[in-house]
Amino acid sequence: MRQYLPKEIDPFRFANTGRELNGEVDLADLTRLAESLRHTDGVVKVWMRFDIDDTGTPFMEGRFETTLSLTCERCLQEMTLPMDIDSLLGLVRHEKLAEKLSDQYEPWVVEDSELTDPVSVVEDELILALPLVPKHEENCLPEEALFSGDEDSEEEEVKPNSPFSVLSSLKTKK
Ligand SMILES: [Zn+2]
Repeated sequence: MRQYLPKEIDPFRFANTGRELNGEVDLADLTRLAESLRHTDGVVKVWMRFDIDDTGTPFMEGRFETTLSLTCERCLQEMTLPMDIDSLLGLVRHEKLAEKLSDQYEPWVVEDSELTDPVSVVEDELILALPLVPKHEENCLPEEALFSGDEDSEEEEVKPNSPFSVLSSLKTKK
C-alpha cells in the first residue's frame, strides 16, 4: 500500500522527538516542478529524518528518489533523468538566522508557530537539482543535422530583408 506524506508537520517538534517520515509524493502534485517536465507520471520516494545535532541545531536529513522526464535541449526529444538527492537542511525560524548555520547545512526557514507542508521542501530540492540545460549524455543529434551545418541556416533566417518580404506579402494579400 502506498504511503503519502502528511500535509502539515512541525519540523522543530519532529527534531525534538527525532522523528522519521517515509512516503511517496505524486509528481503531478508538484506543480512548480511540473513546468519543467514533459510528463508527470511517477512518484518521488521520500525519506526524512529529523534530529538535533551535537551543537543543538535542529536539522532534517533527507533522501529523495525519482525519475524525471525532461526535454533534451539539443535534440528536443525526451530524456529521462534518474534523481537521487541527499539533503541536509538546518531548521531556522527566520532567514536572518540562516547565516549562523554551519556550512554543512542549507537553511530550511520555518516561521514561528507555522506548520509546514513537507512536500514543498521536496519540490524545492528537486527544482534546485534540475540541470540548467538538460542534454542527453550521448551525442543525440542525427548525423545529417551535424553535416548540414545548421549555423548557416540560422543565419538565413535572420537576414534583415526577411521581415519586409513578409510585410509585402501581407500587403498583396489585402
Ligand atoms: Zn538529445
